[in-house]
Amino acid sequence: MPTFVIVGASLAGAKAAETLRDEGFDGQVVLLGAELERPYERPPLSKGYLLGNDERESVYVHLAGWYAEHDIDLRAGVTVTGIDRAASAVLTSDDAIVPYDKLLLTTGASPRRLSFPGSDRDEVLYLRTVADSDRLRAAFQPGTRVVVAGAGWIGLETTAAARSSDCQVTVLEPQPGALHDQLGPELGAVFADLHRAHGVQFRFGERAEEFRPGLVITSAGAEVPADLLVVGIGAAPNDQLAAAAGLEVGNGVLTDEALRTSDENIFAAGDAANSFHPMLGRQVRVEHWANALNGGPAAARSMLGQPVVYDPVPYFYSDQYDLGMECAGLPSPGTYDEIAYRGDRAGLEFIAFWLSRGRVVAGMNVNVWDVNDDIQALIRSARQVDLSRLTNPEIPLPEL
Ligand SMILES: Cc1cc2nc3c(=O)[nH]c(=O)nc-3n(C[C@H](O)[C@H](O)[C@H](O)COP(=O)(O)OP(=O)(O)OC[C@H]3O[C@@H](n4cnc5c(N)ncnc54)[C@H](O)[C@@H]3O)c2cc1C
Repeated sequence: MPTFVIVGASLAGAKAAETLRDEGFDGQVVLLGAELERPYERPPLSKGYLLGNDERESVYVHLAGWYAEHDIDLRAGVTVTGIDRAASAVLTSDDAIVPYDKLLLTTGASPRRLSFPGSDRDEVLYLRTVADSDRLRAAFQPGTRVVVAGAGWIGLETTAAARSSDCQVTVLEPQPGALHDQLGPELGAVFADLHRAHGVQFRFGERAEEFRPGLVITSAGAEVPADLLVVGIGAAPNDQLAAAAGLEVGNGVLTDEALRTSDENIFAAGDAANSFHPMLGRQVRVEHWANALNGGPAAARSMLGQPVVYDPVPYFYSDQYDLGMECAGLPSPGTYDEIAYRGDRAGLEFIAFWLSRGRVVAGMNVNVWDVNDDIQALIRSARQVDLSRLTNPEIPLPEL
């Protein structure tokens, strides 16, 4: 009976295990996770769960009994410390040797950390785990002075949660604007304005350089009052295990379009994987929920020997205050030469399209719903679009 081992018990790993069973695999499935929790989803940790609107139970990928019911050997609180490729086995923190026929790495990513005077104090907080979210929720009290380092998605969602608890919030961001690398300056400004309208102060072009109780000192020498410093400066892939085992890595575990690593029996998916994307024609590492949700199952099918070409249009969503958005594609600066709008941008009910040489390469619907599949189809088609029709809300997107 073959044994398939999955390292990393979060969304990608749990969904891979589910797919193995759905596809009729009746060998052993061992799901090893460093965290004590059973697999859970992270998006609510900076949104509904952090705001206190979502119950703890709602964040889990499966009900507690699901793993036993599906004969998944979930071992929570167990870290894999090494991969012995010659012996086809993984070594664990509880001194077990777990042999595998196929191995899947869904080890995710870890927050980048700040290192400066005071950065190891208890008032300097990060957000990756459910325990981190619990800590932030307890710390966000009315009047608390919060400095957020980083105007990316995690920083801004945390900012919205802090403001909803009546904290005073200042955001420090070394780039010239919010979400600069994710959306570019024009659309990043939409989010910065939204936060300013909710009383948030931004200090662009500045980074945190020291934390003292009651104070963050910035790279411009400014002293910003702070009871808490929340750090959201991005995440790095957990690819050390793969690197130590001699697998090819480079900003994540390198895989082909079937999510297979440089070892034909080892696969990678989710935040940890840097995979060849046939539609984009290059390697991409995507740190988004949908990529874990769909990449885990794709890797599982690949482990089963099914032909897999994993090339979804990257998809992301965010909720901040009463703004909800979905974004398809990767509209970072340099990937587009034009932006077009459909709908009411000032009223925050619109679709933004990023175009390159007349073709839509990314699109974001803001407080407009049931259009993201159509946007993804437009991106995938790579066809030239007529701008006057693209921006005309009367013309359904599938007719473009
Ligand atoms: C606060 C927050 C909010 C987010 N919001 C959104 C959002 O709104 N929209 C969106 O699209 N995406 C969002 N994301 C991103 C999304 O949650 C991630 O893309 C997703 O969690 C990736 O899942 P994963 O299973 O690949 O990895 P992870 O969720 O990182 O899980 C990896 C797991 O592997 C474990 N692990 C690592 N090394 C080992 C080892 N050696 N042995 C055993 N276990 C190991 C880790 O402890 C962890 O539990 C958010 C992320 C965070 C942190």
